[in-house]
Amino acid sequence: MAEMLLAERLARAIALGGPIPVSQFMAAANAHYYGTRDPLGAGGDFTTAPEISQMFGELIGAWAADVWDRAGCPPVAWVELGPGRGTLTADALRVMTRAGMTPTVHFVETSATMRAAQAERVPGATWHDSLTTLPDDLPLIVVANEFFDALPIRQLVRRDGAWHERLVACQDTLFVPIAGASVPDTIIPPALLDASPGAIIETSPASVAIMADLSARIVEQGGVALVIDYGYDGPTVGDTLQAVRGHAYANPFEAPGEQDLTAHVDMATLRLVATASGARTYGTTTQGAFLRALGIDQRATALGERVAGDRRRLVEDMGELFKVIALTHKDWPQPAALAA
Ligand code: SAH
Repeated sequence: MAEMLLAERLARAIALGGPIPVSQFMAAANAHYYGTRDPLGAGGDFTTAPEISQMFGELIGAWAADVWDRAGCPPVAWVELGPGRGTLTADALRVMTRAGMTPTVHFVETSATMRAAQAERVPGATWHDSLTTLPDDLPLIVVANEFFDALPIRQLVRRDGAWHERLVACQDTLFVPIAGASVPDTIIPPALLDASPGAIIETSPASVAIMADLSARIVEQGGVALVIDYGYDGPTVGDTLQAVRGHAYANPFEAPGEQDLTAHVDMATLRLVATASGARTYGTTTQGAFLRALGIDQRATALGERVAGDRRRLVEDMGELFKVIALTHKDWPQPAALAA
């Protein structure tokens, strides 16, 4: 029933107000999707690194404890953006506690369904709808794994020698992308001005806004942030909007709210936003190189044959596609496993 309502609601909005930007379609679809289910795991739509193996969260916990230790062991708040089932934080906390790091735990999560799953694994957490209510009086250690890819993107499509806002129209109950009004060339990165017909440029105003808030916090309060996601160093052309349902790709314009919509994350742009705010940034590196530098191979060997397949998935299957960046306060030490 609920899924009919979102598709109908969007169809009605389009019938009355005209085609809507891709970003509006994606925002509405994902808010409904995450608000109404737990999509993770074998029985769901997709699996993430912390759900593949506890090694992932443990290594991130060790990474965080190390930089915290070298910063002089100050009191800190641990923040995870879009924590899914809370698995990464639960695994990281075990390692951090052993290292003497006992942060307060804060989750930025909009979905009530996901909050319930997180409360089971991390009972003492505090939940936030956005970054605005996070503690403002101590350094933050922030982790975002597969968070930014769920945030809405805007798409521009090349047509008749100009760039056009890509919109979603509704034709006979089917949602279809169309080219809307043209946008001025002045907003297009110069290197992309002469792309071939049909080319697509993506930007994510929502991601940039959150990254700007996050960097401002780190610059103001101290601390570090780690961002892991499938991504690239832009700007570049390419249509990365995709839908995943039942562990398979689907048409992103179909069944809004019933499948996960994601887009690749432009890590170079996120770093630029952080640098512009006065933060230091590290990376971009690959997930494979990052986990290896943190010792996943040794850890997997110690744990034995039973985790060999998990290690392979994290380091090889996901290893190149997933990218890692970090940002820090200028007085915080360089985090491990990332180059300046
Ligand atoms: N980090 C987890 C989950 C990734 S799925 C993991 O690696 O397993 C994306 C998560 O972000 C979900 O918890 C989803 O509910 C949350 N989310 C999506 N959009 C959000 C938004 N705009 N604000 C806060 N959380 C959001």
